[in-house]
Amino acid sequence: KRISLIAANWKMHKTIGETVSFIETLQKEVGPCTDREVMIAPPYTALDAARKAMTMEGYKLAAQNFHWEEKGAYTGEISGPMLKDLGCDCVILGHSERRHLFGETDEMIQKKLAAAFKFGLLPILCVGEVLEEREAGRTLEVIGTQLERAVQGLSREESGKIVIAYEPVWAIGTGKTATPGQAQEVHLAIRQHIAALFDKEVANRLRILYGGSVKPDNVDALMAQPDIDGLLVGGASLEVSSFKRIVQYQ
Ligand code: 13P
Repeated sequence: KRISLIAANWKMHKTIGETVSFIETLQKEVGPCTDREVMIAPPYTALDAARKAMTMEGYKLAAQNFHWEEKGAYTGEISGPMLKDLGCDCVILGHSERRHLFGETDEMIQKKLAAAFKFGLLPILCVGEVLEEREAGRTLEVIGTQLERAVQGLSREESGKIVIAYEPVWAIGTGKTATPGQAQEVHLAIRQHIAALFDKEVANRLRILYGGSVKPDNVDALMAQPDIDGLLVGGASLEVSSFKRIVQYQ
C-alpha cells in the first residue's frame, strides 16, 4: 500500500510570518498524520521558519526548485546541500511554470533529478501536457517523453522512490480540473510506462500525484481513483481552511 502525499505548492506566495501562522494552525487543526503525509513547499525565504514551525509527525518540507550543481558561479541559484542545510526533505522539479516561464528543459530536469538523489532530497517530478497536445491526442506520448528523458541514468532503486506529479497544464490555475477519469487514465499510463522502463515492482511503489485546480469539492473523487496517490495543490493550498479539507480527504 502506497502512503498518500498531499502537497502544497505555494509558488510565490507568503511571507515568513504568514508561513509560520499557516503551519501552526494547520498542525493544530489536523494533528499528527500517520496514514498520509502532508508536504508544504513555501518560497525559499520561508523554508527556515517553516522547518522550525513543523513539529508534528507526518509533515514534510519541500523547496520548489533548485540547481543541480553543489556550488559555483551561478548567481541567484540555490543548491541541494543548501536545501539540506535548511532541513528540506523534498524538492519539486520541472513544474510547468519552471518549464514554460523560465525555460527549463527536459535535460535540465534530468540533471536536477539525479542531483536530488545525490544530495538526499526526495524529488517530486512534474509532468503534463498543454491543451493543444491534449486536443491533438498526444497526451500520453508527451508525458512518456518527459518521463523517459527525466529518469535517464537513474538506478532501479532510485526510480522507485520518485514522486511523480501529473499536472495537465490546461488545469493549472484555470479552475478546470481533469475529471477523475481523465486523471486516472494518465496516472495508469505513467505507471505502465515506468513498469516498461524499469519493472512492475518499481512501478507499484511509485507515488503519482495529481495537480491542477484541486479544490475541497473535487478532492474525494480524485483520491478515490486507484492510481492517484496524492495531490499537488496550488491556489487551494493558500488558505488553511481549504487545504485542511484537502488533507482530510475521505
Ligand atoms: P492550482 O491548484 O492553483 O491549479 O495549481 C496547481 C499547481 O501548479 C501545483 O503545483
